[in-house]
Amino acid sequence: MIDDKIRNVVKEFKAYVPGKSKEEIARKYNLNPETIIKLGSNENPWGCSPMIKDRLLEELPKFSQYPESINPILLQEIADFAKVPKENLIVGGDGADEVIDLIMRILIDEGDEVIIPIPTFTQYAISAKIHGANIKWAKYDEKNEFKLDVNSVLSQITDKTKVIFLCTPNNPTGNIIPNEDIKKIIESTDALVMIDHAYIEYSRKEYDLTDWALKYDNVLVLRTFSKVLGLAGQRIGYGVSSTKIIDYMMRIRPAFSLTRATQISAIATLQDKEFIYKSLDDGIRSREMIYEGIKQFKELEVYPTEANYMLIKVKNGMNSSQFAEELLKKGVIVRDCYSFTGLEPYYVRVSIGTFEENERFLKILKEVVE
Ligand SMILES: *Cc1c(COP(=O)(O)O)cnc(C)c1O
Repeated sequence: MIDDKIRNVVKEFKAYVPGKSKEEIARKYNLNPETIIKLGSNENPWGCSPMIKDRLLEELPKFSQYPESINPILLQEIADFAKVPKENLIVGGDGADEVIDLIMRILIDEGDEVIIPIPTFTQYAISAKIHGANIKWAKYDEKNEFKLDVNSVLSQITDKTKVIFLCTPNNPTGNIIPNEDIKKIIESTDALVMIDHAYIEYSRKEYDLTDWALKYDNVLVLRTFSKVLGLAGQRIGYGVSSTKIIDYMMRIRPAFSLTRATQISAIATLQDKEFIYKSLDDGIRSREMIYEGIKQFKELEVYPTEANYMLIKVKNGMNSSQFAEELLKKGVIVRDCYSFTGLEPYYVRVSIGTFEENERFLKILKEVVE
């Protein structure tokens, strides 16, 4: 039987539960997709750079030809944006997720260990498991506003530890890990410390540790075009690390995972500084607006955030799934956090919207809460 040939670790997998799409919700609840407010996937609510369209049309005649593995202009633009030498960069064509996979592929042998504090981004555990790693869980402490419990990480380090995943700001909790805590972990181990900075553009400058990837040989900083840069649908992310780590990843990276469309879109975005700065400015104002709005409800507890989303604890008697479902019926998509390991079933995550979406969202929220 073919089933007998499948790896056991694969059989243990359940299908990934992504954030819901507008189309899916419109069909299910018989709503107009145009009016649906999507606050479930931490995307840029203002869309992508308007400079992309013409550049894509220019590139279109070349779509029948293989892309360059990486366009040198793109590599230079990313280097300038992240303020690192291009020799220290790896660019992934399935977003930052591809870089996570590459790290697993160069480091993990069957039975090696990775340390993952939870609740956090679920992709780490998925990728680690499929590559044969044993996962050691550490924690962001619910009783202490989800601050990273540094000892829960340090106490798990063994000779077999290959990677430690630190997400800062952390998804879904929104808080940062203090710099001195990260430093302590890096300096306590030879294992690779992955600092996931998917949302770092939204954080205060002093929390941007991208240059630590140049200072230590066991650090990889992960960044993406999917959030403030508005290209979640184009799939591109990058890692910054020592030239040694980059060299090993380059040997095995998929040669053509960055499509022509993706590379052109990414260049156009990075050259559109006005778009980037406005998205960031407006994004931070939008975050304040939602945060202050939600704080008014005594039935909801909202956690401080350095990202473009915030974690909310539902205290009106509903669990997170019931609460998210009530919002869905009224055309609002938020992220029900039940699928994040390490969280009780009372949390939802809400991304920033446009100012107009926020206003409608807060009204609908009032109806659902009361
Ligand atoms: C969104 C996200 C990423 C990157 O996603 P890609 O779309 O694959 O680039 C990485 N880490 C965290 C914590 C995220 O939330």
